[in-house]
Amino acid sequence: MRRDLFDEEHDLFRETVREFMAREVVPHHAQWEKDGIVPREVWKKAGELGMFGFSVPEEYGGSGITDFRYNMVIVEEVIRVGASGLGFGLHNDIMAPYMVDLTDDEQKQRWLPGFASGELITAIGMTEPGAGSDLQGIRTTAVREGDHYVVNGQKTFITNGINSDLVVVVAKTDPSAGARGTSLLVVERGMEGFTRGRNLEKVGMHAQDTAELFFDNVRVPVANLLGGEEGQGFFQLMNNLPQERLSIAVAAVAAAETVLEETIEYCRNRTAFGRSIGKFQNTRFLLAELATEVEIARHYVDKCVRALNAKELTAVDAAKAKWWTTELQNKVIDRCVQLHGGYGYMLEYPVAKAWLDSRVQTIYGGTTEIMKEIIGRSFGF
Ligand SMILES: Cc1cc2nc3c(=O)[nH]c(=O)nc-3n(C[C@H](O)[C@H](O)[C@H](O)COP(=O)(O)OP(=O)(O)OC[C@H]3O[C@@H](n4cnc5c(N)ncnc54)[C@H](O)[C@@H]3O)c2cc1C
Repeated sequence: MRRDLFDEEHDLFRETVREFMAREVVPHHAQWEKDGIVPREVWKKAGELGMFGFSVPEEYGGSGITDFRYNMVIVEEVIRVGASGLGFGLHNDIMAPYMVDLTDDEQKQRWLPGFASGELITAIGMTEPGAGSDLQGIRTTAVREGDHYVVNGQKTFITNGINSDLVVVVAKTDPSAGARGTSLLVVERGMEGFTRGRNLEKVGMHAQDTAELFFDNVRVPVANLLGGEEGQGFFQLMNNLPQERLSIAVAAVAAAETVLEETIEYCRNRTAFGRSIGKFQNTRFLLAELATEVEIARHYVDKCVRALNAKELTAVDAAKAKWWTTELQNKVIDRCVQLHGGYGYMLEYPVAKAWLDSRVQTIYGGTTEIMKEIIGRSFGF
């Protein structure tokens, strides 16, 4: 069915992004996978093209446009070429609401121009070695001393962990106050006592710097508190997680579509027993099933994007999108590996890399099980 989500401006922007990916990313990504990181220069080049901070007001160097379809175009084009090292989605889709909506004028002046130009790379530190799904179980603390918070603790699995200049750290400012005792603080590159640990070796997404972060008596100015009020962190996170989850769902559908297209082409050309493998009924039925499910997923996700733009996307809508599309992505890619035979296991084939890159999608941003909890709770049992 015809997709009617985008206007002409989005299509033009897609051309720009596609051209950027072909020129600045595709020729280098294999090397970045070996390096385990993407160079900062590529962030600056993307920033020059206006790829960051659409929602950043113009006076701070952004476009002042709150339209998630632009974010979606970037995610889709990044996924289409398998550039899983670029942490642009995290910066644009996940961090922008924190940096734009929760900052005061002084913070905006300090951070937003760099955010939009790609000179200040962002990250968010929620997860700790002992607490991921159970966010309230975090142990990082921020104790107020005059004009500073003294931050102690550790984070792990942090996307853009090595490259980031600004890390929104989730910390307990009042450990006795439960959900009301959590705050969000921006820890900046170079602050004394803030160190990076290992750039973690992952199953896939080898060019993405996913790292451990350590905070040892880091003195963070009170001026770096987000949202202007202590103890609001948990609610601020809950508010922003639907957009994060939708971004992951957008990536999931784009990845499933891309791999499916490649696989259909592969099945057309590969022969066995004197005919194209696409002529086997098993192949056609399997591709028919996958194509049906992916198209249904596409329309639900597009609808969610419209709902987000209209400020109507609920946590339950986003949870449904996140778990269903990422589980589907894994199923589609796994089945497509099978249709490639032995070649599907060779990293020179995009399907093999997609298989490795996709596995994490049902885990980060809230696991499938946590998504089902969110949906299940809405029944009010
Ligand atoms: C590549 C990568 C990038 C990441 N990037 C970031 C990042 O930028 N910032 C950040 O803060 N975090 C990040 N994460 C962390 C990610 O969000 C967590 O790994 C995820 O939320 C799960 O937490 P956990 O690993 O502690 O697993 P756990 O919470 O220990 O879960 C283990 C298992 O128990 C299940 N489980 C837990 N609770 C329940 C329950 N109530 N009911 C049923 N089942 C349950 C889970 O579903 C899972 O299957 C990243 C992780 C990866 C792998």
